[in-house]
Amino acid sequence: MELIYESTRNADEKVTASQAILKGLANDGGLFVPSKIPALAVDIDELAKMTYQETAYAVMSKFLTDFTEEELKNCIDAAYDSKFDTKEIAPLVSVDNAYYLELFHGSTIAFKDMALSILPHLLITAARKNQVKNEIVILTATSGDTGKAALAGFADVEGTKIIVFYPKHGVSPIQEKQMVTQKGKNTFVIGINGNFDEAQTGVKKMFSDKKLAEMMEEGGYQFSSANSINIGRLVPQIVYYVYAYAKLYAKGEISKGEKINFVVPTGNFGNILAAFYAKQMGIPIAKLICASNENKVLYDFFSTGIYDKNREFLLTSSPSMDILISSNLERLIYWITGNHAKQNSELMQSLSKEGKYEITKKMKEQLSDFYGNYTTEKQTEQVIHKLYQKTGYVLDTHTAVAAGVYAKYREETRDTAKTVIVSTASPFKFTRSVMNSIDKEKYDSMTDFELVDELSRLSKTSVPAAVEEIRNAEICHKTVCDSEEMEDIVKKILNIV
Ligand SMILES: *Cc1c(COP(=O)(O)O)cnc(C)c1O
Repeated sequence: MELIYESTRNADEKVTASQAILKGLANDGGLFVPSKIPALAVDIDELAKMTYQETAYAVMSKFLTDFTEEELKNCIDAAYDSKFDTKEIAPLVSVDNAYYLELFHGSTIAFKDMALSILPHLLITAARKNQVKNEIVILTATSGDTGKAALAGFADVEGTKIIVFYPKHGVSPIQEKQMVTQKGKNTFVIGINGNFDEAQTGVKKMFSDKKLAEMMEEGGYQFSSANSINIGRLVPQIVYYVYAYAKLYAKGEISKGEKINFVVPTGNFGNILAAFYAKQMGIPIAKLICASNENKVLYDFFSTGIYDKNREFLLTSSPSMDILISSNLERLIYWITGNHAKQNSELMQSLSKEGKYEITKKMKEQLSDFYGNYTTEKQTEQVIHKLYQKTGYVLDTHTAVAAGVYAKYREETRDTAKTVIVSTASPFKFTRSVMNSIDKEKYDSMTDFELVDELSRLSKTSVPAAVEEIRNAEICHKTVCDSEEMEDIVKKILNIV
Protein backbone atom coordinates (compact mmCIF):
# COMPACT_ATOMS: atom_id res chain seq x y z
CA MET A 1 0.00 0.00 0.00
CA GLU A 2 1.25 3.43 -0.88
CA LEU A 3 1.97 5.82 1.97
CA ILE A 4 0.80 9.35 1.25
CA TYR A 5 2.38 12.51 2.59
CA GLU A 6 0.36 15.57 3.53
CA SER A 7 1.23 19.16 4.36
CA THR A 8 1.04 20.19 8.01
CA ARG A 9 -0.75 23.37 6.93
CA ASN A 10 -3.20 22.19 4.31
CA ALA A 11 -4.96 18.83 4.39
CA ASP A 12 -5.57 19.02 0.63
CA GLU A 13 -1.93 19.06 -0.39
CA LYS A 14 -1.09 15.39 -0.73
CA VAL A 15 1.95 13.85 -2.48
CA THR A 16 3.89 10.61 -2.78
CA ALA A 17 7.16 10.06 -0.93
CA SER A 18 9.28 10.79 -4.00
CA GLN A 19 7.37 14.00 -4.67
CA ALA A 20 7.79 15.08 -1.05
CA ILE A 21 11.55 14.53 -1.34
CA LEU A 22 11.71 16.52 -4.56
CA LYS A 23 9.76 19.45 -3.18
CA GLY A 24 11.30 19.64 0.26
CA LEU A 25 8.68 22.07 1.53
CA ALA A 26 4.94 22.11 0.73
CA ASN A 27 3.54 24.97 -1.40
CA ASP A 28 1.83 26.54 1.60
CA GLY A 29 5.06 26.62 3.63
CA GLY A 30 4.02 23.53 5.60
CA LEU A 31 6.11 20.40 6.10
CA PHE A 32 5.28 17.04 4.58
CA VAL A 33 4.36 14.29 7.03
CA PRO A 34 3.30 10.71 6.39
CA SER A 35 -0.46 10.37 6.86
CA LYS A 36 0.36 7.73 9.44
CA ILE A 37 3.56 6.22 10.86
CA PRO A 38 3.92 2.67 9.54
CA ALA A 39 4.66 -0.19 11.93
CA LEU A 40 8.10 -1.75 11.55
CA ALA A 41 6.70 -5.24 12.10
CA VAL A 42 10.04 -7.04 12.06
CA ASP A 43 10.87 -9.44 14.88
CA ILE A 44 13.65 -8.20 17.19
CA ASP A 45 15.60 -11.46 16.81
CA GLU A 46 15.71 -10.81 13.11
CA LEU A 47 16.60 -7.13 13.53
CA ALA A 48 19.43 -8.13 15.83
CA LYS A 49 21.15 -9.96 12.98
CA MET A 50 20.84 -7.18 10.43
CA THR A 51 23.64 -4.99 9.13
CA TYR A 52 23.15 -1.23 9.05
CA GLN A 53 22.23 -1.42 5.37
CA GLU A 54 19.67 -4.16 5.97
CA THR A 55 18.15 -2.21 8.84
CA ALA A 56 18.01 0.85 6.59
CA TYR A 57 16.05 -1.11 4.01
CA ALA A 58 13.64 -2.54 6.61
CA VAL A 59 12.87 0.95 7.94
CA MET A 60 12.98 3.09 4.82
CA SER A 61 10.95 0.75 2.63
CA LYS A 62 8.03 1.31 5.01
CA PHE A 63 8.15 5.06 4.36
CA LEU A 64 9.28 5.41 0.76
CA THR A 65 6.66 3.14 -0.69
CA ASP A 66 6.84 4.45 -4.26
CA PHE A 67 10.52 3.45 -4.56
CA THR A 68 11.13 -0.03 -5.91
CA GLU A 69 13.18 -2.49 -3.88
CA GLU A 70 16.01 -2.17 -6.38
CA GLU A 71 15.96 1.62 -6.35
CA LEU A 72 16.01 1.85 -2.60
CA LYS A 73 18.71 -0.77 -2.17
CA ASN A 74 20.89 1.00 -4.74
CA CYS A 75 20.51 4.26 -2.80
CA ILE A 76 21.38 2.55 0.48
CA ASP A 77 24.43 0.76 -0.91
CA ALA A 78 25.76 3.92 -2.55
CA ALA A 79 25.34 5.87 0.70
CA TYR A 80 26.56 3.59 3.46
CA ASP A 81 29.85 2.40 2.03
CA SER A 82 33.52 3.11 2.66
CA LYS A 83 32.77 6.82 3.10
CA PHE A 84 32.20 5.68 6.67
CA ASP A 85 35.34 4.76 8.57
CA THR A 86 33.72 1.77 10.26
CA LYS A 87 31.66 -1.14 8.90
CA GLU A 88 29.20 -0.71 11.74
CA ILE A 89 28.37 2.76 10.34
CA ALA A 90 26.92 3.83 13.70
CA PRO A 91 28.89 2.20 16.56
CA LEU A 92 27.61 2.09 20.13
CA VAL A 93 30.18 2.52 22.87
CA SER A 94 29.62 2.04 26.55
CA VAL A 95 31.13 4.76 28.76
CA ASP A 96 30.40 5.64 32.36
CA ASN A 97 26.87 4.24 32.81
CA ALA A 98 25.56 5.22 29.40
CA TYR A 99 25.85 4.19 25.79
CA TYR A 100 27.05 6.65 23.19
CA LEU A 101 25.69 6.16 19.69
CA GLU A 102 28.48 7.60 17.56
CA LEU A 103 26.94 9.13 14.46
CA PHE A 104 30.09 10.88 13.32
CA HIS A 105 31.90 8.24 11.30
CA GLY A 106 30.86 9.61 7.90
CA SER A 107 32.75 11.87 5.53
CA THR A 108 32.17 15.17 7.36
CA ILE A 109 32.31 13.76 10.91
CA ALA A 110 28.90 14.94 12.10
CA PHE A 111 25.58 13.12 12.28
CA LYS A 112 24.27 15.02 9.26
CA ASP A 113 26.20 12.48 7.16
CA MET A 114 23.78 9.76 8.24
CA ALA A 115 21.04 11.32 6.12
CA LEU A 116 22.96 13.47 3.68
CA SER A 117 24.97 10.55 2.34
CA ILE A 118 21.76 9.10 1.00
CA LEU A 119 19.68 12.19 0.21
CA PRO A 120 21.35 12.95 -3.16
CA HIS A 121 20.65 9.38 -4.30
CA LEU A 122 17.05 9.53 -3.13
CA LEU A 123 16.61 12.87 -4.83
CA ILE A 124 18.06 11.81 -8.17
CA THR A 125 15.94 8.65 -8.09
CA ALA A 126 12.86 10.72 -7.23
CA ALA A 127 13.58 13.12 -10.11
CA ARG A 128 13.84 10.22 -12.53
CA LYS A 129 10.60 8.67 -11.27
CA ASN A 130 8.73 11.94 -11.68
CA GLN A 131 10.20 12.81 -15.09
CA VAL A 132 11.78 16.01 -13.82
CA LYS A 133 13.62 17.82 -16.62
CA ASN A 134 14.72 20.87 -14.65
CA GLU A 135 18.06 21.16 -12.96
CA ILE A 136 17.56 20.78 -9.20
CA VAL A 137 18.90 23.57 -7.04
CA ILE A 138 19.51 22.50 -3.47
CA LEU A 139 19.03 25.57 -1.34
CA THR A 140 20.21 25.15 2.21
CA ALA A 141 20.68 27.10 5.40
CA THR A 142 23.16 25.62 7.82
CA SER A 143 24.10 26.06 11.44
CA GLY A 144 27.43 24.49 10.46
CA ASP A 145 27.15 20.77 9.82
CA THR A 146 24.36 20.36 7.29
CA GLY A 147 26.20 22.65 4.89
CA LYS A 148 29.34 20.59 4.60
CA ALA A 149 27.53 17.25 4.62
CA ALA A 150 25.19 18.44 1.86
CA LEU A 151 28.06 19.90 -0.16
CA ALA A 152 29.96 16.64 0.10
CA GLY A 153 26.88 14.71 -0.97
CA PHE A 154 25.94 16.89 -3.93
CA ALA A 155 29.35 18.05 -5.24
CA ASP A 156 29.51 17.31 -8.97
CA VAL A 157 26.23 15.36 -8.92
CA GLU A 158 24.87 15.63 -12.45
CA GLY A 159 21.67 17.68 -12.78
CA THR A 160 22.09 19.55 -9.48
CA LYS A 161 23.49 22.75 -8.05
CA ILE A 162 23.90 23.36 -4.35
CA ILE A 163 23.80 26.74 -2.62
CA VAL A 164 24.61 26.92 1.09
CA PHE A 165 24.12 29.90 3.41
CA TYR A 166 25.85 29.83 6.80
CA PRO A 167 26.12 32.40 9.63
CA LYS A 168 29.52 33.99 8.99
CA HIS A 169 30.26 34.45 12.70
CA GLY A 170 28.27 31.53 14.07
CA VAL A 171 30.19 28.38 13.16
CA SER A 172 33.40 26.78 14.45
CA PRO A 173 36.69 27.48 12.59
CA ILE A 174 36.88 23.86 11.40
CA GLN A 175 33.25 23.92 10.24
CA GLU A 176 33.86 27.10 8.25
CA LYS A 177 37.05 25.82 6.69
CA GLN A 178 35.33 22.56 5.71
CA MET A 179 32.69 24.51 3.79
CA VAL A 180 34.75 27.23 2.13
CA THR A 181 37.27 24.72 0.79
CA GLN A 182 34.56 22.62 -0.90
CA LYS A 183 35.42 21.71 -4.47
CA GLY A 184 32.91 21.07 -7.27
CA LYS A 185 31.68 23.25 -10.13
CA ASN A 186 28.09 23.09 -8.88
CA THR A 187 28.81 24.22 -5.29
CA PHE A 188 28.22 27.71 -3.87
CA VAL A 189 28.89 28.71 -0.27
CA ILE A 190 27.91 32.09 1.14
CA GLY A 191 28.43 33.52 4.62
CA ILE A 192 25.69 35.81 5.90
CA ASN A 193 26.01 38.64 8.38
CA GLY A 194 23.32 37.16 10.60
CA ASN A 195 22.44 34.07 12.59
CA PHE A 196 21.11 30.66 11.57
CA ASP A 197 17.46 31.63 12.07
CA GLU A 198 17.89 34.49 9.61
CA ALA A 199 19.52 32.16 7.09
CA GLN A 200 16.75 29.59 7.54
CA THR A 201 13.99 32.19 7.30
CA GLY A 202 15.54 33.60 4.10
CA VAL A 203 15.69 30.14 2.55
CA LYS A 204 12.11 29.27 3.53
CA LYS A 205 10.94 32.57 2.05
CA MET A 206 12.52 31.72 -1.30
CA PHE A 207 10.83 28.31 -1.25
CA SER A 208 7.36 29.79 -0.96
CA ASP A 209 7.97 32.76 -3.31
CA LYS A 210 5.70 32.14 -6.33
CA LYS A 211 7.32 34.80 -8.50
CA LEU A 212 10.74 33.32 -7.90
CA ALA A 213 9.39 29.84 -8.69
CA GLU A 214 8.22 31.12 -12.08
CA MET A 215 11.60 32.66 -12.82
CA MET A 216 13.24 29.40 -11.83
CA GLU A 217 10.94 27.39 -14.08
CA GLU A 218 11.75 29.68 -17.01
CA GLY A 219 15.44 29.21 -16.36
CA GLY A 220 15.00 25.43 -16.25
CA TYR A 221 15.49 25.10 -12.49
CA GLN A 222 13.56 23.99 -9.46
CA PHE A 223 14.40 24.16 -5.77
CA SER A 224 14.74 21.35 -3.33
CA SER A 225 15.99 21.34 0.22
CA ALA A 226 18.73 19.46 2.01
CA ASN A 227 17.56 20.77 5.38
CA SER A 228 15.90 18.47 7.86
CA ILE A 229 12.53 19.82 6.74
CA ASN A 230 12.98 17.40 3.81
CA ILE A 231 11.37 14.04 4.56
CA GLY A 232 14.30 12.50 2.68
CA ARG A 233 16.46 13.52 5.62
CA LEU A 234 14.12 12.53 8.35
CA VAL A 235 13.42 8.97 7.22
CA PRO A 236 17.10 7.87 7.05
CA GLN A 237 17.53 9.22 10.59
CA ILE A 238 14.97 6.77 11.98
CA VAL A 239 17.25 3.92 10.96
CA TYR A 240 19.95 4.37 13.59
CA TYR A 241 17.45 4.38 16.46
CA VAL A 242 16.16 1.01 15.34
CA TYR A 243 19.73 -0.19 14.75
CA ALA A 244 20.93 0.98 18.18
CA TYR A 245 18.07 -0.79 19.92
CA ALA A 246 18.69 -3.99 17.98
CA LYS A 247 22.42 -3.87 18.72
CA LEU A 248 21.85 -3.46 22.46
CA TYR A 249 19.58 -6.48 22.32
CA ALA A 250 22.04 -8.48 20.21
CA LYS A 251 24.81 -7.77 22.72
CA GLY A 252 22.63 -8.94 25.58
CA GLU A 253 22.58 -5.50 27.18
CA ILE A 254 18.77 -5.42 27.20
CA SER A 255 16.07 -8.07 27.24
CA LYS A 256 13.26 -8.51 24.76
CA GLY A 257 10.83 -5.59 24.93
CA GLU A 258 12.91 -3.68 27.51
CA LYS A 259 12.36 0.04 27.17
CA ILE A 260 15.30 2.39 26.79
CA ASN A 261 15.75 6.17 26.74
CA PHE A 262 17.44 8.29 24.11
CA VAL A 263 19.05 11.63 24.86
CA VAL A 264 19.32 13.85 21.79
CA PRO A 265 21.23 17.15 21.54
CA THR A 266 18.66 19.21 19.73
CA GLY A 267 18.51 22.24 17.46
CA ASN A 268 16.07 22.05 14.59
CA PHE A 269 14.27 19.08 16.21
CA GLY A 270 14.96 16.74 13.27
CA ASN A 271 17.07 14.15 15.02
CA ILE A 272 14.79 13.72 18.03
CA LEU A 273 11.71 13.66 15.82
CA ALA A 274 13.22 10.67 14.04
CA ALA A 275 13.53 8.98 17.46
CA PHE A 276 9.85 9.71 18.08
CA TYR A 277 8.98 8.11 14.74
CA ALA A 278 11.08 5.06 15.68
CA LYS A 279 9.01 4.77 18.84
CA GLN A 280 5.79 5.06 16.85
CA MET A 281 7.03 2.30 14.55
CA GLY A 282 7.13 0.03 17.58
CA ILE A 283 10.66 0.28 19.02
CA PRO A 284 10.41 0.05 22.84
CA ILE A 285 11.50 3.56 23.79
CA ALA A 286 10.53 5.12 27.12
CA LYS A 287 11.69 8.73 27.24
CA LEU A 288 12.91 11.00 24.50
CA ILE A 289 15.18 13.39 26.32
CA CYS A 290 15.53 16.68 24.47
CA ALA A 291 18.79 18.45 25.32
CA SER A 292 19.27 22.15 24.58
CA ASN A 293 22.16 24.53 25.09
CA GLU A 294 21.58 28.03 26.47
CA ASN A 295 19.24 28.73 23.54
CA LYS A 296 16.72 26.78 25.58
CA VAL A 297 13.51 27.61 23.74
CA LEU A 298 12.57 23.90 23.62
CA TYR A 299 13.14 23.36 27.32
CA ASP A 300 10.82 26.28 28.04
CA PHE A 301 8.30 24.88 25.58
CA PHE A 302 8.21 21.45 27.20
CA SER A 303 7.89 22.98 30.66
CA THR A 304 5.25 25.61 29.91
CA GLY A 305 3.52 24.74 26.63
CA ILE A 306 4.53 28.15 25.32
CA TYR A 307 6.92 28.37 22.40
CA ASP A 308 8.54 31.81 22.50
CA LYS A 309 11.44 32.77 20.30
CA ASN A 310 11.44 36.39 21.50
CA ARG A 311 14.74 36.32 23.32
CA GLU A 312 18.39 36.99 22.71
CA PHE A 313 20.06 34.62 20.23
CA LEU A 314 23.18 33.32 21.99
CA LEU A 315 26.33 32.09 20.29
CA THR A 316 27.48 29.03 22.20
CA SER A 317 30.20 26.40 21.94
CA SER A 318 27.63 24.05 20.38
CA PRO A 319 26.83 26.20 17.32
CA SER A 320 24.87 23.51 15.45
CA MET A 321 22.23 23.86 18.17
CA ASP A 322 22.13 27.66 18.15
CA ILE A 323 18.59 27.85 16.87
CA LEU A 324 15.47 29.60 18.16
CA ILE A 325 13.06 28.40 15.45
CA SER A 326 13.09 24.62 15.54
CA SER A 327 11.46 23.85 12.21
CA ASN A 328 10.71 20.19 12.74
CA LEU A 329 8.78 20.85 15.91
CA GLU A 330 5.95 21.76 13.54
CA ARG A 331 5.60 18.08 12.66
CA LEU A 332 5.13 17.20 16.33
CA ILE A 333 2.69 20.07 16.85
CA TYR A 334 0.67 18.84 13.89
CA TRP A 335 0.60 15.38 15.45
CA ILE A 336 -0.59 16.62 18.86
CA THR A 337 -3.40 18.57 17.19
CA GLY A 338 -4.59 15.20 15.85
CA ASN A 339 -3.39 16.04 12.32
CA HIS A 340 -5.43 19.21 12.28
CA ALA A 341 -3.88 21.37 9.55
CA LYS A 342 -5.92 24.46 10.32
CA GLN A 343 -5.09 24.50 14.00
CA ASN A 344 -1.42 23.90 13.31
CA SER A 345 -1.41 26.56 10.65
CA GLU A 346 -2.78 29.13 13.10
CA LEU A 347 -0.07 28.34 15.62
CA MET A 348 2.63 28.67 12.96
CA GLN A 349 1.17 31.98 11.81
CA SER A 350 1.32 33.21 15.34
CA LEU A 351 4.97 32.10 15.46
CA SER A 352 5.84 34.03 12.35
CA LYS A 353 3.87 37.16 13.36
CA GLU A 354 4.38 37.35 17.13
CA GLY A 355 7.28 34.97 17.54
CA LYS A 356 5.30 32.77 19.90
CA TYR A 357 2.35 30.46 20.38
CA GLU A 358 0.77 28.47 23.17
CA ILE A 359 -0.59 24.95 22.88
CA THR A 360 -3.72 23.75 24.66
CA LYS A 361 -3.68 21.65 27.81
CA LYS A 362 -4.95 18.69 25.85
CA MET A 363 -2.11 18.99 23.36
CA LYS A 364 0.45 19.30 26.14
CA GLU A 365 -0.76 16.05 27.70
CA GLN A 366 0.33 14.24 24.58
CA LEU A 367 3.93 15.29 25.05
CA SER A 368 4.54 12.92 27.94
CA ASP A 369 7.09 10.92 25.91
CA PHE A 370 9.37 13.95 26.01
CA TYR A 371 11.54 15.39 28.73
CA GLY A 372 13.37 18.67 28.10
CA ASN A 373 16.28 20.31 29.86
CA TYR A 374 19.40 22.30 29.04
CA THR A 375 23.09 22.56 29.84
CA THR A 376 24.83 25.89 30.39
CA GLU A 377 28.17 26.77 28.77
CA LYS A 378 30.00 26.30 32.05
CA GLN A 379 28.38 22.91 32.65
CA THR A 380 29.19 21.78 29.10
CA GLU A 381 32.88 22.49 29.76
CA GLN A 382 32.73 20.58 33.02
CA VAL A 383 31.06 17.58 31.39
CA ILE A 384 33.86 17.32 28.80
CA HIS A 385 36.55 17.87 31.41
CA LYS A 386 35.22 15.37 33.93
CA LEU A 387 34.44 12.57 31.49
CA TYR A 388 37.89 12.88 29.97
CA GLN A 389 39.56 12.83 33.39
CA LYS A 390 37.52 9.84 34.49
CA THR A 391 37.54 7.67 31.35
CA GLY A 392 39.76 9.19 28.63
CA TYR A 393 36.73 9.47 26.32
CA VAL A 394 36.46 12.88 24.65
CA LEU A 395 33.03 14.31 23.84
CA ASP A 396 32.31 17.08 21.38
CA THR A 397 30.42 20.08 22.75
CA HIS A 398 27.00 19.03 21.39
CA THR A 399 27.21 15.54 22.83
CA ALA A 400 28.39 17.10 26.08
CA VAL A 401 25.20 19.16 26.21
CA ALA A 402 23.28 15.89 25.94
CA ALA A 403 25.39 14.19 28.62
CA GLY A 404 24.84 17.21 30.89
CA VAL A 405 21.08 16.98 30.46
CA TYR A 406 21.15 13.23 31.07
CA ALA A 407 22.88 13.83 34.42
CA LYS A 408 20.13 16.31 35.37
CA TYR A 409 17.46 13.85 34.26
CA ARG A 410 18.93 11.05 36.39
CA GLU A 411 19.20 13.33 39.38
CA GLU A 412 15.65 14.57 39.00
CA THR A 413 13.81 11.35 38.15
CA ARG A 414 16.01 8.57 39.57
CA ASP A 415 15.14 6.70 36.36
CA THR A 416 17.71 3.95 35.87
CA ALA A 417 16.47 2.67 32.49
CA LYS A 418 19.27 1.96 30.01
CA THR A 419 20.00 5.11 28.11
CA VAL A 420 21.62 5.94 24.80
CA ILE A 421 23.18 9.37 24.37
CA VAL A 422 23.20 10.35 20.73
CA SER A 423 26.68 11.52 19.86
CA THR A 424 26.30 13.95 16.99
CA ALA A 425 29.79 15.15 16.19
CA SER A 426 33.43 14.22 16.44
CA PRO A 427 35.36 16.31 18.97
CA PHE A 428 37.75 17.13 16.10
CA LYS A 429 35.09 19.38 14.62
CA PHE A 430 34.97 21.61 17.69
CA THR A 431 38.58 21.24 18.73
CA ARG A 432 39.12 24.62 20.34
CA SER A 433 36.09 24.47 22.63
CA VAL A 434 36.82 20.85 23.48
CA MET A 435 40.51 21.41 24.27
CA ASN A 436 39.79 24.55 26.27
CA SER A 437 37.36 22.51 28.35
CA ILE A 438 40.08 20.00 29.06
CA ASP A 439 42.76 22.56 29.96
CA LYS A 440 42.26 26.20 29.05
CA GLU A 441 45.60 27.48 30.34
CA LYS A 442 47.55 24.96 28.39
CA TYR A 443 45.77 25.12 25.06
CA ASP A 444 44.48 28.65 24.69
CA SER A 445 47.48 29.92 22.74
CA MET A 446 47.72 27.07 20.22
CA THR A 447 46.55 27.34 16.60
CA ASP A 448 43.52 25.35 15.41
CA PHE A 449 45.61 22.65 13.79
CA GLU A 450 48.07 22.39 16.68
CA LEU A 451 45.01 21.68 18.78
CA VAL A 452 43.91 19.01 16.32
CA ASP A 453 47.22 17.18 16.75
CA GLU A 454 47.10 17.58 20.50
CA LEU A 455 43.56 16.17 20.62
CA SER A 456 44.69 13.21 18.54
CA ARG A 457 47.48 12.53 21.01
CA LEU A 458 45.36 12.79 24.12
CA SER A 459 42.30 10.94 22.84
CA LYS A 460 44.50 8.24 21.28
CA THR A 461 42.58 8.45 18.02
CA SER A 462 44.02 9.43 14.66
CA VAL A 463 43.07 12.71 13.04
CA PRO A 464 39.97 12.05 10.90
CA ALA A 465 40.46 12.31 7.12
CA ALA A 466 37.84 15.08 7.03
CA VAL A 467 40.11 17.30 9.13
CA GLU A 468 43.38 16.20 7.58
CA GLU A 469 42.18 17.13 4.11
CA ILE A 470 41.37 20.74 4.99
CA ARG A 471 44.62 21.41 6.80
CA ASN A 472 46.24 22.90 3.71
CA ALA A 473 43.25 23.17 1.40
CA GLU A 474 42.66 26.23 -0.72
CA ILE A 475 39.74 28.57 0.08
CA CYS A 476 37.33 28.47 -2.90
CA HIS A 477 34.35 30.42 -1.52
CA LYS A 478 34.63 33.97 -0.24
CA THR A 479 31.20 35.60 -0.72
CA VAL A 480 29.63 37.24 2.32
CA CYS A 481 26.25 39.04 2.24
CA ASP A 482 23.49 40.48 4.41
CA SER A 483 20.39 38.35 4.96
CA GLU A 484 18.30 40.70 2.77
CA GLU A 485 20.59 39.98 -0.17
CA MET A 486 20.14 36.20 -0.19
CA GLU A 487 17.57 36.13 -2.97
CA ASP A 488 19.64 38.41 -5.23
CA ILE A 489 22.67 36.20 -4.75
CA VAL A 490 20.69 33.11 -5.70
CA LYS A 491 19.34 34.80 -8.83
CA LYS A 492 22.83 35.89 -9.78
CA ILE A 493 24.25 32.38 -9.35
CA LEU A 494 21.48 30.94 -11.51
CA ASN A 495 21.63 33.81 -13.94
CA ILE A 496 17.87 34.41 -13.79
CA VAL A 497 17.92 38.16 -13.12
C1 LIG B 1 22.51 19.53 13.49
C2 LIG B 1 23.18 19.14 14.73
C3 LIG B 1 22.48 18.99 15.94
C4 LIG B 1 21.00 19.29 16.04
O1 LIG B 1 20.21 18.38 15.32
P1 LIG B 1 18.71 18.75 14.93
O2 LIG B 1 18.24 17.64 14.08
O3 LIG B 1 18.79 20.06 14.20
O4 LIG B 1 17.95 18.89 16.20
C5 LIG B 1 23.16 18.56 17.05
N1 LIG B 1 24.49 18.34 17.01
C6 LIG B 1 25.20 18.47 15.89
C7 LIG B 1 26.65 18.21 15.92
C8 LIG B 1 24.57 18.86 14.71
O5 LIG B 1 25.29 18.99 13.58
